[in-house]
Amino acid sequence: MSLFKEIGLSSAILKAIEELGFETPTEIQEKAIPFLLETNNDLIGLAQTGTGKTAAFGLPIIQHIDIETKSPQSLILCPTRELCLQILSDFKHFCKYKKGLNVVAVYGGTDIYAQIKQLNRGAHIIVATPGRIYDIIRRNKINLSNIRTLVLDEADEMLNMGFKEDLDAILEQTPREKQTLLFSATMQKGVAQIAKRYMQEPFEITAGEKNIGAENVDHICYMVHARDRYLALKRITDINPDIYGIIFCRTRKETKDIADSLIKENYNADVLNGDLSQSQRDSVMKRFREKSIHLLVATDVAARGLDVDDLTHVINYNLPNEDEMYTHRSGRTGRAGKSGTSIVIINMREKSKIKRIEKNINKKFTFCQVPTGDEICKKQLFSLIDRMETVEVNQEQIAPFMDEVNEKLSHFSKEDLIKHFVSLEFNHFLSYYNDAPNLDFDHQGKSQKTEKQNRGKGSSPESGFKRFFINVGRKDKINALGIIKMVNNQAGEHNIEIGAIDIKPCFSFFEIDENYANTLLEAFKGLKIKGRNIFLELAKAEKNTSKDSYSRGKKRFNKKGKNKKQKKRR
Ligand code: AMP
Repeated sequence: MSLFKEIGLSSAILKAIEELGFETPTEIQEKAIPFLLETNNDLIGLAQTGTGKTAAFGLPIIQHIDIETKSPQSLILCPTRELCLQILSDFKHFCKYKKGLNVVAVYGGTDIYAQIKQLNRGAHIIVATPGRIYDIIRRNKINLSNIRTLVLDEADEMLNMGFKEDLDAILEQTPREKQTLLFSATMQKGVAQIAKRYMQEPFEITAGEKNIGAENVDHICYMVHARDRYLALKRITDINPDIYGIIFCRTRKETKDIADSLIKENYNADVLNGDLSQSQRDSVMKRFREKSIHLLVATDVAARGLDVDDLTHVINYNLPNEDEMYTHRSGRTGRAGKSGTSIVIINMREKSKIKRIEKNINKKFTFCQVPTGDEICKKQLFSLIDRMETVEVNQEQIAPFMDEVNEKLSHFSKEDLIKHFVSLEFNHFLSYYNDAPNLDFDHQGKSQKTEKQNRGKGSSPESGFKRFFINVGRKDKINALGIIKMVNNQAGEHNIEIGAIDIKPCFSFFEIDENYANTLLEAFKGLKIKGRNIFLELAKAEKNTSKDSYSRGKKRFNKKGKNKKQKKRR
């Protein structure tokens, strides 16, 4: 492995990166920097975020800037305002000792006139989101005719976000004779098309293999009933007391529902989605970066600009719609040489998607059992003991209170004292998981819950699902697969998510994604099978709906009033 000073960087840049603690180049830097210092050829860099690609393209760009030429010489396009600001901040550090070099960032959600003013003062390098720079171009407020290097950073993300037309229009405005650098985590079709159209014989480098998730990420899969997803999520977070991660959901509504439920149950969580204003987004991201929030429930779009290096976990509450998106999600952990875990929670019907993702990332998932209540309690107990062991005791500050404290506790034996202190913090976990059911599917694909724990008529469905009653049951030789087939055939759709299925002797209940409830009711109207009328209707909610014993345990706990002033659970 070479050192930075061996790859041709100027002393001003070497001094700046030394101050940042960069000693040896990362893989992408080792491959890209000498190439970019020596040639004007186009380059495609296939690399995840977190691999050091900003310096890989940034350092050669800075080295080549002619300070005396006052018009923009380099344009860096990236998908989000947050990434823009990140690149701006990195560049400012890199060019600390290259006096007079001006880097300006332009992005949406902020006053455009102030940005135009900044550009007018002279920018050697512009970092921009496509939408905002195109707006400035259309207003004729920028001259891109001297651009020598154009960077498309996170090109796949820009396309996923619908910037294709803006990109085409911007690229048309830049001179033909320029160097184009394209960085992307995946070489999806649209990216390949851009490369074909706008690049000339690009040299291709890969840091890690194409389309592969970060090396040091473990991929773990938990398979549960669709309706148990949320309970499984809580257990996954409870078995990881030091978790610091993003929980990805598919819709804004889902992020809000999940975050609200977690917050209500005293988890240290918050939501990041497109419904937030810019200042709310900034505030949530700031608190997450500072680790005052440990779990961020986010949509893919909202999480795009969030760059955090030390996430321990990424949790896919739902699998992404596009398989490729999984690479982006999981690549948010295991960065900067650290290890990370990417978790997916699936139902039985999603197993085939896992196979496709495995192919895509060229790695296998480990299928794990959802932690049991006992396992969680043990883990939490020992985590508490560890924290107690290592807590810093401020002898001086505590000394004035100790006589009184000692006197108050004098009747306790050492053993009882330990039990009381541990119980103070730990009781809520014991009660919470008291008699908690097993959430796993066994090998036959049935949940291992006891009958008592299975939901009968009218129990409330999982959030986002509607529960139906149908007048066919075991006596009609119907099984779960038969119900799934019937739903798919009648609705003419094969992607409807089906939750719990409960087959009784003469009738059955099942749950489906609430978005398809009306379609299904319509589709079953007047249905006859072998001359028999088939009735489908929404199940009536039982008045005193009992949830699973897990929740009941918690309710009991509440009734005793011990949970009233529950602390944040992490
Ligand atoms: P990037 O992929 O450019 O967002 O970089 C990810 C993180 O790695 C950032 O915090 C960089 O400051 C850091 N970094 C980049 N290159 C190096 C290097 N050669 N040595 C140490 N840290 C680096």
